[in-house]
Amino acid sequence: MKFKPIKRRENPSGIYRCGTCGRFLCKNSFWIITKDNTGGTCKRCTKNTRWLWGQNNIQHLRDKAREWSKNNRDKRYQNKIRHRLKKRKAVDPTANRKYILLIYKYARMKTRKTGILHEVDHIIPTTKGGKHHENNLQVLIHTENNIKSNKLDTEIVGTKLEEIKKYYNL
Ligand SMILES: [Zn+2]
Repeated sequence: MKFKPIKRRENPSGIYRCGTCGRFLCKNSFWIITKDNTGGTCKRCTKNTRWLWGQNNIQHLRDKAREWSKNNRDKRYQNKIRHRLKKRKAVDPTANRKYILLIYKYARMKTRKTGILHEVDHIIPTTKGGKHHENNLQVLIHTENNIKSNKLDTEIVGTKLEEIKKYYNL
């Protein structure tokens, strides 16, 4: 048995009626035009119903957001850093977020294994025009990072991306 594809009748007037608010509107005011060409729900009504749904299910949305942040701790932390650095205009759009995450992961792993606090440091400080880019990041011990603070100290060299990549066999 062959199914014939349903052909959509063109509405010659180009005016459709919203089934919810009853307004007569042009095609652009609808997301989807129903098959029988009577229109459907206009964009404004869809927005309203969505907003209402959110109001009625606010607890559900909150639970979902909480669950996400529980499962995506790394991403949440990264977003926090990005937000802070955005104010300083230090976020680089060409940066590879995967590599940045890897550097933070390495620092955490080192802290856990050695028991000494390891931190991620910007080689050129963001306050001095350095970017939040994987090539501008290195892993330092907390005490070293404190000495360096926001100076451009080239003597203190930490673990850079190349070494971290090698460590994870990338
Ligand atoms: Zn409507």
